[in-house]
Amino acid sequence: MLIVPEREIADLMTRSAAFDAVEKVFAAMASGDAYNFPVIREAIGHADALYGFKGGFDRAGLTLGLKAGGYWPNNLDQHGIINHQSTVFLFDPDTGRVRAMVGGNLLTALRTAAASSVSIRHLARDDAKVIGMIGAGHQAKFQLRAALEQRDFEKVIGWNLHPEMLPNLEEVAAEAGLPFEAVELDGIREADVIISITSSFDAILMADQVSPGTHIACMGTDTKGKQEVDPALLARATVFTDEVAQSVSIGEAQHAVAAGLIAESDITQIGAVINGTHPGRASAEEITLFDGTGVGLQDLAVAAAVVDLAVQNGVAVEVDF
Ligand code: NAD
Repeated sequence: MLIVPEREIADLMTRSAAFDAVEKVFAAMASGDAYNFPVIREAIGHADALYGFKGGFDRAGLTLGLKAGGYWPNNLDQHGIINHQSTVFLFDPDTGRVRAMVGGNLLTALRTAAASSVSIRHLARDDAKVIGMIGAGHQAKFQLRAALEQRDFEKVIGWNLHPEMLPNLEEVAAEAGLPFEAVELDGIREADVIISITSSFDAILMADQVSPGTHIACMGTDTKGKQEVDPALLARATVFTDEVAQSVSIGEAQHAVAAGLIAESDITQIGAVINGTHPGRASAEEITLFDGTGVGLQDLAVAAAVVDLAVQNGVAVEVDF
């Protein structure tokens, strides 16, 4: 069995390798070659932890496995480690033997940023110039860094419930040599591309605060009850997702579907656009919305890529098992 420790991931994995892995597995999901298993997520009644598994099988990429982990809210204060903890296990689909164990913390941020980037690559207008961020936490930095590589952006604007976190966005904009402007929610109308990545349980962005022609990636809603945008925005937009079953149950679309504003059949898997079986954006005025719920196959795809890189670079630890 190969082990790729968390500490090695930053030196091995690139944004472009994560993008390619995620784009490929989204395409495989849409063509029926890859599928996710039902998600398990439990409050275990210890350490206030939420623990679970996300798994799947990609017959095209021959990737079988699961990500195990969750959220331990007291980690930082009591143990000096981050609250989100996860590990990916990969298995040989021919024999069932465990193939690799891979640190999943950094990979989660990279694969989540890759998902919104894939949506921007395939759905945003080519002439997008202003990117708007809603959220400025840990994930937001990864999201913005990856998104800035997708179009020739000239300016970053951002809003966050906790304004003291906005320098996180300013720092990433500065890395790319771009100006950053903090705005009120009404100011987000200037954005051609919007990413929302918060832990909100109520709509933040209203339907009339988004301009025609915008692409919005809603990335924060990954659990029942969470919400970032007005359900009316989904009715106004053409809605895409990583996986329709997750979109309507734990994703942003759960609210619009429950309110009867859109139907499950109105939602398209982004993989269909990647595969060319859906035309994607229909006009320069259309609002496109990507509901990025986060699927296990994304984790497996980036973990498999990092195992290959670790082997190539001689840093995979081999153990007899
Ligand atoms: P974080 O704690 O670092 O940041 C949280 C962000 O949400 C901050 O911008 C904070 O100001 C904002 N926020 C907190 N409470 C809010 C509220 N009530 N209303 C509006 N904004 C609020 O967290 P993070 O690691 O950046 O994660 C952000 C979200 O992304 C979480 O909900 C997490 O579950 C989700 N996430 C989704 C995926 C996916 O695949 N879709 C993957 C990883 C994380």
